[in-house]
Formats: sequence, C-alpha cells, structure tokens
Amino acid sequence: MKKRDFISISDLANDEIEEIFRLADRMLDRAGPEAKFCAGKIMATLFYEPSTRTRLSFESAMQRLGGSVISCPDMRFSSTAKGETIADTARVVASYADILTVRHNWDGAVKAMAKYADVPVINAGDGSHEHPSQTLCDLYTLRKEKGKLKGMTVVLCGDLKHGRTVHSLLYALARFGAHVVTLGARGMEIPQYVVEKLEREYHYSLAPMASDDLQAVVSESDAVYLTPSQPHQLALFTQVDPEMQSRLKNLASRLKFDALYMTRKQKERLKEGGEGEGREYPRIGERFLRERRFKDTVVLHPLPRVDELSPEVDKDWRGIYFKQAAYGVPVRMALLKFLFDALESRKAVGKHKTVNLFKSPEPIGPQCLNHNCVTRTEPVSAEPRFEALFAGGGGGFVLRCCYCDHQLKVQYVGHTRPKRYCSYDSSLLEAVQRWLMQGELAIFDSLKQAEELGYEPYKVGPQRIIMDEADIRRSIEQISDQILAGTGERDRPLILGVRSKGAVLAGRIAEQLKVRRNRDFELGEIEIYGTEEEIKRVPASISETEREPINLKDRAVILVDDVIHTGRTIKSALSIIFKSGRPRSVRLAVLVDRGHREVPVKPDYVGKHIPSSDRERVRVKLREIEQDEKDKVLIYSVIGPDGGQPPPDLTAEATVS
Ligand code: ASP
Repeated sequence: MKKRDFISISDLANDEIEEIFRLADRMLDRAGPEAKFCAGKIMATLFYEPSTRTRLSFESAMQRLGGSVISCPDMRFSSTAKGETIADTARVVASYADILTVRHNWDGAVKAMAKYADVPVINAGDGSHEHPSQTLCDLYTLRKEKGKLKGMTVVLCGDLKHGRTVHSLLYALARFGAHVVTLGARGMEIPQYVVEKLEREYHYSLAPMASDDLQAVVSESDAVYLTPSQPHQLALFTQVDPEMQSRLKNLASRLKFDALYMTRKQKERLKEGGEGEGREYPRIGERFLRERRFKDTVVLHPLPRVDELSPEVDKDWRGIYFKQAAYGVPVRMALLKFLFDALESRKAVGKHKTVNLFKSPEPIGPQCLNHNCVTRTEPVSAEPRFEALFAGGGGGFVLRCCYCDHQLKVQYVGHTRPKRYCSYDSSLLEAVQRWLMQGELAIFDSLKQAEELGYEPYKVGPQRIIMDEADIRRSIEQISDQILAGTGERDRPLILGVRSKGAVLAGRIAEQLKVRRNRDFELGEIEIYGTEEEIKRVPASISETEREPINLKDRAVILVDDVIHTGRTIKSALSIIFKSGRPRSVRLAVLVDRGHREVPVKPDYVGKHIPSSDRERVRVKLREIEQDEKDKVLIYSVIGPDGGQPPPDLTAEATVS
C-alpha cells in the first residue's frame, strides 16, 4: 500500500485540488454521508511551533469525521527535549496513529519525517518553506467569494520572504492561472528560489511590484505587474525607458484587484540583529477601504494578525479572513478524506515528474546553503539530496535542495572513477550529465573538499592570456569614464557587483569613480544563489547608522560582472533588482563578453569582446580572490571529459584551479 503525504502544494494536481474542494462543499453539511468516515482512526498532531488555527481546525476536522486525536501539548515536553531526532519521533508516533500532522520550525523537517513514518504525513508549516493546507483554505475561500481563480488578480503583501503561506499560495495561483502582484515589505521580497521555481515549473514569470509602489497602489497612481497571459518581460530590459514606464502606468491604472492577501511580519524568523528588517511594513486600514480601486477587493490573511491589518477592516464586507479561518475545518476534513481514500485506492500516487536526483557518492559533498534546512540542523534525519538543474546548453549548473527548495550554484565537479576534479563550466555539460546518470558525479563546495577526498585536478590544454594586468586596469578605467559620461548626479548611481568576481570589479570601478569625482559612490553586491540578503551594501561605503536595505527606486544601477556568456546570471540579477525597488535604469558593465547569449541581454559597457567557442573556457583571475596571483584573463581548451583522460592534443601543461 502506497501512502500519500501532503508536504508541498505541488503534491496535488489541479484536478485533485478541485476534488478536495468538492468534498469540502459536502463537508459544510456536517450531517452528510462523510460524518463518520474516520471512525476508529487516530490522527497524531506534532506541533514544534505555536499554532491556533491550523492545529485546532485539523483536530476539529478529524473529530467531526468521527476520528480521534492524540497529541503532545507542547513538543518541548516530548522526548525532543531529551535529544530525540525527528526521524525517531516520526517512526514511533507513526505506529500509534493513522496519520500525522506536523509543524516544525526547520525548513524541510516535515518531508524528512515523512520518510520515516509509514502513515501519511501532512505538513502544517515547515519553517519559512511551505504551508500547503493553508493554501487549500485560501484558494477555497477565494473561489467561494469570487467564483473562479483563473484570471483573477491577487495582491500578496507583507513579509513575502519568510511567509510560508505566501510561497505555497503563489505556486498554486500560478498553476490556476491567476494574476499575481507581489508587494513585499522592503527587504522582505519573494526569495529568488521561489521566483525561479515558478519560472521553471509553472512557466510563470513574475516581475513583482517594488515595495515602494505600495504607496502608489494605495494612492491610485502607478503599479507594475506581471501576469501569465501578458508577460511584459520587464526583467530582460536593462533600460526602463520612459515609454515603457508610461505603458505600465496605463496598464496599472486599469488594473482591478480581486483580492489582497495580507501577511504578518514573521518576527520569529528574523536573524538576530535583523529587527530593523521590514521597518516600513505595509498596513491595511481605513485608507485602503476608501480607495475606489479596492472597492471589490476582498482581504484575506492567514492570521494571526498583529498590526498590519486594522480592526476597521473587520467591519467591512471585504474583510473575509475570519470566514477563511472557519473554512479551515471543512477543507481539512476534505483533505483527510482525500488522503485516507488515496491509501485505499490503488490509484497511481500523484503525477510524478522525472527529475535528475543528485546524492553525493562521496562521504563529503555539497551542503544546502539554507542554515535552517533540516539537512543542516539535523543531518542524521535528512541526508543532503538535490535535484540537478541544467539550465540548458551553455547554462549554469544548479542544485536545488529536495527538502527546502533553496538553490546553490555548482562550483567544482569531480568524476569518481579517475578521481579527478575541475571547476564547472558549461563546456562540461554533456560529460557531467553522463557522470550523473552513471552515478559517477561528485560535487564539491571547495577545492579543499575535493583534495581531502583524494581527488586530483584535471589537466588542461595550453593557456593563453588574453588580458593582462594592464589591460584589465585600462578596461576598468574606460568603463568608469563611460559610466560617468552616461550618468547624471541626479540619477543617484549605485554600483552593484554580482558576487563574487563582479563584486570585486564593482569595487574597483567605485574607486575609479571616486578618484574622478572626489566623492564616494554607493556600492553594493548582489548574491544570486545565497540565502541571506540578496542585495547588500558593501559596508565600507556606508555609515554605521545606515543599515536599511538599499533602496533602488528611481536610481541608476550599474550592474557589474566579470564575464557575460549565456546571460542567465544577469537575468536572475535583474529579477532580484526589480523586486527590490524599480530603478530608473539598469546598465550592465562586464569585463569580458563571450557571446553565445541565450537571453536577450546586452551589456552597455564591455572591457573586451572575446568571441570564444563553446568548448573553450574563459577565466578571470583577480588578485583579491586568487590571493597571490596577478590579474589576468585566460582562455584555454577544455579537458577531455571521457574517463578523465585528456585527448592527446591537450597534454598536461597547467592545472585548473
Ligand atoms: N499561521 C500562519 C503560519 O503558521 C501565518 C503566520 O503565522 O503568520 O504560517
């Protein structure tokens, strides 16, 4: 018998969600035919975090279906306090109950527990990751109020970074063809891993409205939005021209909002010292109620609310959050019935997509970057496992954590048979895919890791220096001159480097600008595959008191990277920039342009064009990163990927580092 867990909203197909809604309609009539469906069954609720609605509505749902509930009033008083792992707790409790409902503060913890429990497990919220049963309640409420989901425009507002309800809801709205406007509080925008999952799995491009536009929404001026049916691909333009601005304004003024989903600042998830995050938190109150454009906009909230949603809204017909909370019982009754039915039916378990799974064949391997991921907090219960994502020919190689969805960019790959390693480059794509399929792919976070495991570097063919120290210096100077020529003082330029080499170059450009203008230029760095702040100030350039997230609205951003190739990195960087505040313009400066673009991004300032072949590697070496090396740009031929033996014409001369 195959059990059916409910860990992510992606575990249910759209037609299954519809089926649950039909069941929920029947559950509204408590004396209906399902009244005793769960008689004799037991649900265990394991809540490692506080809860009112989720826990009580699940418990009520089970009891209304004639079942019973066992629970621990507070997991701090369970064996967890004695050091029991979540794996052991799951194994044991699964032998006492027919279904487990679990909430945990670690991302991915519920998925890990589901692997050890031989009864179905429901995720009642795991860290900042997902809260899929809340999404069922949200969608059900929206459908009841608005009659449909397709084509509806929903505004998601507040702490979109840590709010797990938002992440699950966003995936579901994309799947049902709703339009979404996201309004994150500054520094609390939708995380990039969520944006990329939306694009990859649901072909849904999201260009969120910047937090500064919240005022604009409320005061009926302009707004930027993106819908699945009218993608304007804002993120692919490096220049936001005035015509586009006015088109967007026009579009936005006609935009009708069907629902606004407000969320609480997730204080418990902020890092120590992060109290300042989301200082300008949006608030829905009287002003919202008076706005004409919101006259038909219903307000939802997963609750609890703190002060982001004024009690004024309670009295208005549009405030439907208590109804939404009440639907928690019929919807969860329906979910329980669905999961128990699935156990009995011999139906295939969900619709499984095929994925390339990566599990390190070596005792040490890559780690999820998310410090709150269960693979980091309790690796004995959850060994790191990743989905390997190849962005296509020439694209980057990224691992997506199977527990928490965070992504990391692969730096070093190894082939287990010859025990050789090298840094990953798109020229290795086919070889690496083959090694993965054969279970012979090793991935390392660092050179040190590879060497500790006894791997030796691959040999490479002859190298050619195409830019030396002086060339690089001259390029930086030229780029700096061009930047100054194209940027007025009033544009408030911000130099933003892509971590890590782009950030070093950005620092050098900022220095040059300072020499020329005799003042500091604001400097920042952007991290595409990280879990901390995506855009950070570079501390040296700011005063201690100025700790707020960088505001990009109406600024001239100069984005800096070392090499542009497919353009995918820049596409991700642009998407991060646009959700952090809509700049006046974004110009792109690169030291080297290799060509072979896959997305339409054109750099504005280029140090050197190097039309290299796809089989060649171009490597920028900077003294800040390589320590004792001098600056240079190298070009060399790729290694022979088969069996680790370089082809005869590429005999050993130098090593890749
Ligand atoms: N109750 C929801 C959750 O557990 C929302 C919140 O706590 O803000 O995620």
